[in-house]
Amino acid sequence: MPNADDMLAVASARADDLAAPGLDPKPRRKVAVLACMDTRIDLFAMLGLERGDAHIIRNAGGLATDDAIRSLAASQRLLDTEEIVVVMHDGCGLHGASEDEFGQALADDGVLPTWRLGAFDDIDATLRASLTRLRASPELPARDQIRGFIFNPDTGALREVEANPA
Ligand SMILES: [Zn+2]
Repeated sequence: MPNADDMLAVASARADDLAAPGLDPKPRRKVAVLACMDTRIDLFAMLGLERGDAHIIRNAGGLATDDAIRSLAASQRLLDTEEIVVVMHDGCGLHGASEDEFGQALADDGVLPTWRLGAFDDIDATLRASLTRLRASPELPARDQIRGFIFNPDTGALREVEANPA
């Protein structure tokens, strides 16, 4: 059975638990988390979040792409968040991937997207580059509180990477 059918059945059985009629869509803790889509990262358990606390923006790598910035701009400008936490992780599928091979495979299928895969070799440098980009993005009115962490799925440890000095 396709997953979608199971998912629909689960959701309909849990509707009473899923309903949140009194919950404010503005994040209670005024924070947005940008994280990799990796299956091993349970952001709610890791960061002590409850439903209603935070915006969660996930993409391949947890990179500060144009579309991540679009979501963060909506988060800050429309829904009053003031803080950003970026979460990358060891063992990411983009770490050591080949930008050239990925681009060639797309080209072979007849597409030349405007975006890049975002493959990287140095995770700390990549996270610092994302922090630098976010801190330099006027789309985001609140740029004083932007921090970056790297999760190790093997040990469960979360470590901070310091941003480059402004
Ligand atoms: Zn990843």
